[in-house]
Amino acid sequence: MSPLWRPAYVAIGSNLNHPQERVSEAYERIAALRATRLELRSRLYHTRPLGPQDQPYFVNAAAGLLTQLSAHDLLEALLGVERAMGRHRQERWGPRVIDLDLVWMVGAVIEEAHLTVPHPGVSSRNFVLYPLADIAPTLEIPGHGFVADLKVRSGGDGISVLG
Ligand code: ATP
Ligand code: CA
Ligand code: CA
Ligand code: CA
Repeated sequence: MSPLWRPAYVAIGSNLNHPQERVSEAYERIAALRATRLELRSRLYHTRPLGPQDQPYFVNAAAGLLTQLSAHDLLEALLGVERAMGRHRQERWGPRVIDLDLVWMVGAVIEEAHLTVPHPGVSSRNFVLYPLADIAPTLEIPGHGFVADLKVRSGGDGISVLG
């Protein structure tokens, strides 16, 4: 564990078992992770699913963290939260009770079999960029661009603010 607290951004999604509550639960579980502080929460968004359309709309959000964990340890911790919340991996991009993707961690460009940072889907997914722009519009994601610009480019198709 490094003594340095680094910013990290996590995309949160759910479309099963009361998604809005599951997103709140995910925020609480992320806040409780060791060596990690939950600093920022986005608004919640109602979004059309990626991939198979015969599934409910998602609730999406983004969390801004400060963490002393490495990107690998943070991913492990996030996958642990998914398991604790009953995530079962089945169909690709199918329905899920919770999905936690490490979108970006400052200083951590990684291309490995089980971990790619920044997350490769970030610039094409408005359901990631809209919430991320709530908490980090001026953030620059290496290889992609500035979050506010990426959000505009991604367009508002199939997405609305919840509540
Ligand atoms: P996508 O990654 O396209 O959003 P998904 O979220 O449905 O798809 P999952 O089944 O949740 O995919 O994850 C599959 C694997 O992706 C995880 O077990 C993890 O090892 C790997 N992975 C690689 N990079 C990342 C990242 N930046 N954040 C989260 N998981 C990642
Ligand atoms: Ca904590
Ligand atoms: Ca995902
Ligand atoms: Ca995932």
